[in-house]
Amino acid sequence: MTAEIIDGKLIANALKEELTIKIEKLKQEKNIQPCLAVILVGENPASEVYVRNKERACEKCGVKSLKFTMSVEVSQEELIDKIQELNNDSNVHGILVQLPLPKHIDEKIVMREIDPNKDVDGFHVVNVGKLSIGEIKGKNAAFIPCTPKGCVKLIKTAIGDNLSGKKVTIVGRSNIVGKPMAQLMLAENCTVKVTHSRTQDLKQECLWADILIAAVGKPKMITKDMVKPGAVVIDVGINRTEDGLVGDVDFEGAMEVASHVTPVPGGVGRMTIACLIENLLQSCLKQF
Ligand code: NDP
Repeated sequence: MTAEIIDGKLIANALKEELTIKIEKLKQEKNIQPCLAVILVGENPASEVYVRNKERACEKCGVKSLKFTMSVEVSQEELIDKIQELNNDSNVHGILVQLPLPKHIDEKIVMREIDPNKDVDGFHVVNVGKLSIGEIKGKNAAFIPCTPKGCVKLIKTAIGDNLSGKKVTIVGRSNIVGKPMAQLMLAENCTVKVTHSRTQDLKQECLWADILIAAVGKPKMITKDMVKPGAVVIDVGINRTEDGLVGDVDFEGAMEVASHVTPVPGGVGRMTIACLIENLLQSCLKQF
């Protein structure tokens, strides 16, 4: 069996085109230009690349982006002051603090300072809570974290909108990928297993899955013997190795047994950024 590649680049470009039209309409009809403020603390090369990619996508879709670079030595209070200034700026519709933050800053405290109505990353406890009680549609819907949101779109493009009853295994339980991913799949009426570093017999848990989502941060750790024949494999991992960027899944191996596989690069990462723009538009529509 040779799986189909889920082309994240193509799917993300289609979504960005759709969003560009809606953003243009917002400008024409309501004279509003969506604006995203990004705060980058320190000089983490990977974070700089992510921020640059987000800025490019904003530009392409007609969104204004503001970047605030702060020294690695900035205090938590100074960072919070900046966030509050942006909370109070009615021309800013979305605020994103690029993670990870330096060790002397408590990410959880900082995230709580972002106005939940401008929390386009969906990391504020209000948005996390809304997602966990299934408040994901309508005017007061949660902002859904961009990476899992993008994964759902990729899965639906591959196998259709009805995911009811599918068995899903998620490898990884982080607050930004694994846990929100599990909530979203539950909202789709899937049966969900969340696995992590203490999971016993990971291979069996993965083999059980119709949809296998890897978000670990370990190059190629999901091998073909862990993939159920015909499964959909979503690779969230981004690992910088001597061979370049690789995912958490052994792509070639997975392609031999799965029905659909996302590549790295060109898979989930592209969708993450498109979903950020979508969340920003949601924020604008919420505020006006
Ligand atoms: P974290 O490091 O926060 O979480 C990793 C998770 O993997 C943890 O829950 C950990 O378990 C689990 N884990 C570690 N080792 C094993 C193992 N041997 N078996 C099973 N589970 C294991 O990572 P993130 O969730 O932030 O990111 C995961 C990957 O996704 C990274 O490569 C990151 O770069 C990438 N990423 C990609 C994005 C994109 O847009 N494509 C966006 C965000 C992340 P435990 O909790 O027990 O420690």
